[in-house]
Amino acid sequence: MMKLSYSQISCYKTCPMQYRLRYVEGRETPPNASLSFGKSVHAALEWLYSVPTPHPATLEELTDYLEECWIPEGFASPEEEARYFFQARSTLELYYRRNVLETDEPFRIPAGLEHKFRVDLGFCALSGVIDRLDRSPEGAFEIIDYKTNRRLPPISRLRQDLQLPIYQIAAKKIWDVPVARVTFHYLIHDQKVSFIISPERESEALSEIERVSGCIDRCEFDPEKNNLCPWCDFLDECALMRGTPSRKGSVAAPPLEIGQAVDEYITATHRLENATTRLDGLRSIITSYLESGQALHVSGSLGTASLEENGVLLIEP
Ligand code: SF4
Repeated sequence: MMKLSYSQISCYKTCPMQYRLRYVEGRETPPNASLSFGKSVHAALEWLYSVPTPHPATLEELTDYLEECWIPEGFASPEEEARYFFQARSTLELYYRRNVLETDEPFRIPAGLEHKFRVDLGFCALSGVIDRLDRSPEGAFEIIDYKTNRRLPPISRLRQDLQLPIYQIAAKKIWDVPVARVTFHYLIHDQKVSFIISPERESEALSEIERVSGCIDRCEFDPEKNNLCPWCDFLDECALMRGTPSRKGSVAAPPLEIGQAVDEYITATHRLENATTRLDGLRSIITSYLESGQALHVSGSLGTASLEENGVLLIEP
């Protein structure tokens, strides 16, 4: 049975040829800065809600985790990466302030988190990941999709978008729960845009998914010119658009206040100093143990330590 996700349906609707190259032929697309930024912020928020504690992690722990889960791929330069990293950190700070510190609501673990699904629609299997499913104390369910776009799209476009209807259809099949509303949460602006998806809108969405799956089944893969062509990964091999100057990599990195860079530099220096002190302490503990002659080498789960003939500590992963 054909498997389709929201991204694939959206790709097909934008340009069938691009769909064929990406999903039928499986062409690799190079990593890009916005994608790495978005995935890293999603991973940090997933972590915030999956730490097994009655109290939320602190903001510092959250931003520390961002460093751990940061995806350093697709950036044109270290400076561009730093700008995206600052933006990710301030996005999480804003989220934490508004949704953990400044809210009267108690910290609650969502009913569903980064839930991967695959549901059978009869004509195709629909797959995807629901970022979050919330259940209010009154029992109402809300599907939330985090967005890391820098610009808020017009409401009319969001109303027509298939993503939230798809998630509502999937959630009803997976959890068999009534969904009260569906929400796009634009994290950079901390703006939520919510909709109620009527049964009619669900049917329209299902018809649209069936139409797209039928077109794919019949191998209808003609190129279709659209606003995103200048950023297309396959511009050079597209008969319709070959010769158009590519604008890939031309998206400006997020703005950065120079004061923010100074603060980050100072914070990073403190972290480095703390890490160096800790490294010295650990080196001294391991060296003393080995020098006592209790063992020739000692192992942790990540590597082994021993002393070279000249007494220098050697750590091998
Ligand atoms: S350049 Fe435009 S028309 Fe050509 S494959 Fe890419 S998206 Fe489609």
